[in-house]
Amino acid sequence: MKQKYIVGNWKMTLNKKDSLKLAEDIRSIEKKDNVSIEIAPTYLYLQDIIEILIDTDVSVISQNFDYESLGSFTGGISLTQLEEIGLSKTILGHSERRSKFNESNEMVDKKLEIVLNSNFDVIYCFDSYEQIPFDLIKNNLNSNSKLTLAYEPTWAIGTGETASVEHIVEIHSKVSSTLESLNIKDIPILYGGSVNPANSNQIIHANNVDGVLVGGASTNFDQLTGIINSI
Ligand code: PEP
Repeated sequence: MKQKYIVGNWKMTLNKKDSLKLAEDIRSIEKKDNVSIEIAPTYLYLQDIIEILIDTDVSVISQNFDYESLGSFTGGISLTQLEEIGLSKTILGHSERRSKFNESNEMVDKKLEIVLNSNFDVIYCFDSYEQIPFDLIKNNLNSNSKLTLAYEPTWAIGTGETASVEHIVEIHSKVSSTLESLNIKDIPILYGGSVNPANSNQIIHANNVDGVLVGGASTNFDQLTGIINSI
C-alpha cells in the first residue's frame, strides 16, 4: 500500500499543559508501517515535545519559519534555529499565515525558494491550483529538500465544511498532471480542511490523495487516533 501522511497542525490552540499532555498520549499510538504521523506544535513547546516523542515514530515539524539563518529580525524564527533543536521539516504558506499575518504570495514563494535550497523538507499549502508556483518548484527542487503539497481551501479550514471527495480529486489530479508534465516526481499531495474521523477514510483513500493535514481534530487525542485508525 502507498505511504499515507497524517499531519497535525496544532496552530496556537493549546496551552503548555494540554500540549504536553497530548504529546504524552500520542506516545501510545501504534503506527502502521505505511502511515507517517507528523505534528506541528506551537514554537514555544517544540523542544519539550521533541523530547517527549524522541523514541517514537511520530515526527515533530514546524508550523512556519521566517528566514534561513540568524539575523536581526525581531520575533522571527530561522531554519537554522529549528534545525538546532532537531527539526528538519516545516509547513509553509498556511492560509492563516497568508490571511492573518499578511504573508503575501511573493513572501511565501520567496520562503519556498529558501527552504527548497536548504536541507529542510517542506509542506507547501495552497488554496487554489493557480497559487502553486510550478516554475519556482521546477527550478529549485533538489534532492536535499523533499516537497509535499497540501490543498487547503480556505473556506474549509476550521469551518466544519469539508470539500467533497470529487472536488478534492479534481484539484489533486490537476496538480498531479501538471507535476507529471514538468517531470516532477514523488510529490505527496495532502488535503486539509475540516478532516475528522468520520470523513478521513474516504478522503485519504481518494485518487491522488496521499494524506491529510488536520487542524482542530488533531488537537483531540480521540479524534486524532480516530483519523489514524480510519486508514
Ligand atoms: C489546518 O489548519 O490546516 C486545517 C486544515 O484546519 P482544520 O482541520 O481545523 O480545518
